[in-house]
Amino acid sequence: MRAVTVTPGSPNSLRCDPDWPEPVTAEGGVLVEALAVGICGTDHEIIAGHYGEAPPGVRDLVLGHESLGRVLEDPSGTLQPGDLVAGIVRSPDPVPCPNCAVGEWDMCRNGRYTEHGIKALPGFARDRWRVQPQFAVGLDPALARVGMLLEPTSVVAKAWEHIERIGNRAEWQPQTVLVTGAGPIGLLAALLAVQRGLTVHVLDRATTGPKPDLVSALGATYHATPVNELDFEPDVAVECTGAPTVVLDVMCKAGINGIVCLTGVSSGGRKIDFDAGSLNRALVLENNVVFGSVNANRRHWDMAAAALARADRSWLESLITRRVPVGAYAEAYRPQPDDIKVVLDFTA
Ligand SMILES: [Zn+2]
Repeated sequence: MRAVTVTPGSPNSLRCDPDWPEPVTAEGGVLVEALAVGICGTDHEIIAGHYGEAPPGVRDLVLGHESLGRVLEDPSGTLQPGDLVAGIVRSPDPVPCPNCAVGEWDMCRNGRYTEHGIKALPGFARDRWRVQPQFAVGLDPALARVGMLLEPTSVVAKAWEHIERIGNRAEWQPQTVLVTGAGPIGLLAALLAVQRGLTVHVLDRATTGPKPDLVSALGATYHATPVNELDFEPDVAVECTGAPTVVLDVMCKAGINGIVCLTGVSSGGRKIDFDAGSLNRALVLENNVVFGSVNANRRHWDMAAAALARADRSWLESLITRRVPVGAYAEAYRPQPDDIKVVLDFTA
């Protein structure tokens, strides 16, 4: 069968192997036929050789952590053949740490977790894959063309759950949300904010391309101005750019009792001049909270599946700006200017 692989640490070792071995039953009882995988920045970092780890004793890593497939068999009876399904990316560490021990692998304390297509577990960019039933998330049958958005949606479902838990430290009636960055994570964070009945603003530097229309179609307001020129102070900010100046501006912009959730990963090494004392003063005197959020556990994947099922299907489809057949895989991994989500199509 076909598999899209890299040799971790070797830049530009991306290839499509036509003779990759079938998944072994030890990988899990649920056998799935791949429909599609979504591509994100982590894949690009792995291809560049900056990141990624093959399973023990194996040279190559199968890519792909944003999965969508159809169940071929599930001996446990949890899922039925033909069911639409996505595989959960992270598996708990083997120790396990106190968080992994209770299914909170997204909060793993020792870093020994594994991740499909990223860290020591084969990914989902292959014709067939297997997972254990507890790592298979069933999807509404209507999501057959967009279900690969479940993984990025699980990330923002976790972010929103934690925002709400923090908000409920006191009486909390949030109204205004600022999302910075209108990539897939930012747009899906905005979708979940709209579903919560909040007034949503999305800020991105793009003035052309699909982003402004996608934000308007949600009923949200698009801004292509710097954060410090906005004329409101958000109750909640979800930062999805990882750009150091944007991150700092957002922390300074949050309103009274404001919550800032950081989801973008900065590359580091860039130093900027900023007034740490003023930021500290603003955070203390306004009861602000700034926190980071990454990954998602089973509960968040299920919340994400419900959120996608409720969303407008044509809006979700418009997030997918390119669908590339596996035969042209190299093209899928070559970024283009107006890309939002690029999908590798295993049915073509
Ligand atoms: Zn752990």
